[in-house]
Amino acid sequence: MYAFNKKIQALKPYQPITGNYQVHLDANESFIPLPQYILHEILEETQKLQFNRYPDASAAEVCSAFASYYDVPSESVAAGNGSDELISIIFSVFLEKGDSYAVCDPDFSMYQFYGELFETQGVTIPKDTNFQIDVDRVINTCKNEDVKLLIFSNPCNPTSVGLQKADVRKIVTGVDAVVVLDEAYMDFWDQSMLDEVTKHENLIILRTCSKAFGMAAIRLGFAVANPAIRNVLMAAKSPYNVNTLTQKAGTVILNHKYEAEKALQEIQRAKQFLYGGLLELQNRYGAFQVIDGVTNFVSLKMEDGSALYAYLEKLGIAVRYVGGLVRITCGTQKENEILLHAAENYFLKMR
Ligand SMILES: *Cc1c(COP(=O)(O)O)cnc(C)c1O
Repeated sequence: MYAFNKKIQALKPYQPITGNYQVHLDANESFIPLPQYILHEILEETQKLQFNRYPDASAAEVCSAFASYYDVPSESVAAGNGSDELISIIFSVFLEKGDSYAVCDPDFSMYQFYGELFETQGVTIPKDTNFQIDVDRVINTCKNEDVKLLIFSNPCNPTSVGLQKADVRKIVTGVDAVVVLDEAYMDFWDQSMLDEVTKHENLIILRTCSKAFGMAAIRLGFAVANPAIRNVLMAAKSPYNVNTLTQKAGTVILNHKYEAEKALQEIQRAKQFLYGGLLELQNRYGAFQVIDGVTNFVSLKMEDGSALYAYLEKLGIAVRYVGGLVRITCGTQKENEILLHAAENYFLKMR
């Protein structure tokens, strides 16, 4: 008989929130549906695809669309089945069993998931009391603990806090490790390292179409790095990791930069509204602290976040309780109003 690997026994799968909620503010997706004419364009392009053939293994067309959108060389871009898959590929490429990788805390939980899957040693570097990354501490820890790979999100999920580009650069040039910079939310901020990624020997930037682009359903993410690293990622991935439909839909979206940026602005307005409303509640009830962040979600630091989470859940409002924070994705005006109203009722009751 077979037995499961030990490493599998302790593994906790990612648990997205499922079920019927009237308001979905839990997964940091975009709340804006694609415009009709873009949907039509995708449909039209889909009809021309050869479904009997395997996808383009290099995903050349969509990588090139990404490269023009962000003005990076297309030889530096690799596509993945969501950036999640790319994290897995990167761990498999740069770490051997027992090697050390470092994460900051709090940060995106999937990093540790892959760390366990590849039987590597996680080194956790706490953030400061304002949830900011302690740059010197990161650099020293990487040196002292023989860290081979450092991964962090900037801006951070779940805190929404961002690290200035100069500080990121200081980390990248200050460590010997490969630095995986997860910029899943950087479309909402202006401190991307994309414009200098190929100048660094040890930097990989991850981007995704799941957040700002409103394309979580198609599973499309990108890794950007100097061609030496990028080619190793291409060699280590499964050959047809990004399917033909996704490659085509992604290409269409990325070729509509104007539309994408318009949606981005709308998301940012919604986020400001949500942030402002929560700030008002903070000033009125004082039971929590709204973190002033730079993403499409707002996080609350509070004593009993799980109780607020449970209260909202009963009302059919899904948010996320993660890393001790209540994380609320901005939604439509109506969704944001429902959330604010429910939160106010909660704090009134608690008073
Ligand atoms: C959502 C998210 C991802 C995953 O993106 P996919 O491309 O959908 O796999 C990666 N990193 C962070 C920090 C995220 O929040």
